[in-house]
Amino acid sequence: MKSKILLVTLGVIAIATVAINLDFLTSTARQSVASVASKAAIKNLSGVMADNNARGFAAAELITLPINVTEVARGIYKASGVGNTYVVTTSAGYVVFDTGLVIQAAEQKQKLQAVIGNSEPAKIILSHSHADHVGGARFWSEGNAQLIAHEEFEEEQRYLTELNPYLHGRNRTLFPWLPETPRTLPGMDFRGLEPDILVDNDVPFRFTLGDRRFEVHATPGAEGADNIVLWLPDDKVLLSGDFFGPQFPQFPNIFTMRGEKVRKPVEYSQSIGRLLKFDIETLIPGHLEPIQGADTIRAGMTRIRDAVDFVHDQTVAGMNAGRPLETLMRDIVLPERLALSQTHGKVSWAVKSIWEYYATWFHFDRTSELYATSQSTILRDLAGVLDQQAALSLVQSKIDDNRPEQALLLVELLEGIDDATALNRLRLHVLQQLKDVALQTGNDYELYWLDSEIEKAHETARLIK
Ligand SMILES: [Zn+2]
Repeated sequence: MKSKILLVTLGVIAIATVAINLDFLTSTARQSVASVASKAAIKNLSGVMADNNARGFAAAELITLPINVTEVARGIYKASGVGNTYVVTTSAGYVVFDTGLVIQAAEQKQKLQAVIGNSEPAKIILSHSHADHVGGARFWSEGNAQLIAHEEFEEEQRYLTELNPYLHGRNRTLFPWLPETPRTLPGMDFRGLEPDILVDNDVPFRFTLGDRRFEVHATPGAEGADNIVLWLPDDKVLLSGDFFGPQFPQFPNIFTMRGEKVRKPVEYSQSIGRLLKFDIETLIPGHLEPIQGADTIRAGMTRIRDAVDFVHDQTVAGMNAGRPLETLMRDIVLPERLALSQTHGKVSWAVKSIWEYYATWFHFDRTSELYATSQSTILRDLAGVLDQQAALSLVQSKIDDNRPEQALLLVELLEGIDDATALNRLRLHVLQQLKDVALQTGNDYELYWLDSEIEKAHETARLIK
């Protein structure tokens, strides 16, 4: 399965739906309303995807795949979906780990209960607050099951909800098949959950149900500050949510380009260090299929941790040596022994985000960073005093020399010139050149962004004509 599909993991699709709080409904009533609304939403999404020239299509495609239930380890059942829902059975009831995307959750639950029976779970564990993991939490319980989440869970939900219009706009740039505005689907409130048990970073929450021991461990620093994982020590199984991202092993998205609060690189490394103490034989991620084999899992985890440590330490050393951020973004590369796929997280962006994590917003480079006047305000004036033809030729020569990053900076400075058609043509060349480079790494976010810019440039070309 293509990696692009997995981008949705990061809670993107579900931003298509928004919360209406229908707490007075029983879980069964909520579930029936949701089933009807879900089918409509999925049908609608399929139509939108078809209209959007396949950009980001693979990501959306996952939502239309049939939901299947399989036993992925002894007594552990998975209902597939954009985000999987898992059930861990015991001799005295069962535990749910993650509850999928709200528009798939009702069907996931129904298909799982066809296998394990209709009783209510003893506990529901939510790996983190992203929408593709918490969607069905209200379907599974009439209020008797204990809801377990990280102590930062409510705060993460709060800001993701409060900033939803902003985040939705950004997501829609990357995933154009998302609806223009967040949808409202009655009964499909996946926010505002109030956990019964909060797990903090220092003390794992351990419990026994029937013949099984459970350990819930906090692993902050991954996809948000509120990550928890479920360790089943007797089975040597780890349910990891999104801790490792959509593929294993890969370089993690230390801070996501979509725009969320900071993720702490040092905490991430420490969290992996904690997981390395377990002898994991089966790794069950929140998306796609389990990974088997203690050696493979240990080697992958060690490499991820060492790669993050390497990038972190090199960035800090570069900062202390007074080297410019952009130089470090270019020069810090993973050595061969730590090579990892960068389809999800990208090393140069990790360098930038680690820098900003420590130094925040003022880079100490340009005084203009301090003031509220943007470069765009002087571009018309600049164009008025320029030899515009010479400037366009300069861009062309950068393109010819295969220096797209320099050409891009020039294009951005020339926004105010008279020959918008010529400038736009050059912009398209530059973007295409950047995309050719980006394809070598295959970072999905970079490609989605460049595709969106290329589409915008084509649109500009149509308008100018
Ligand atoms: Zn996810």
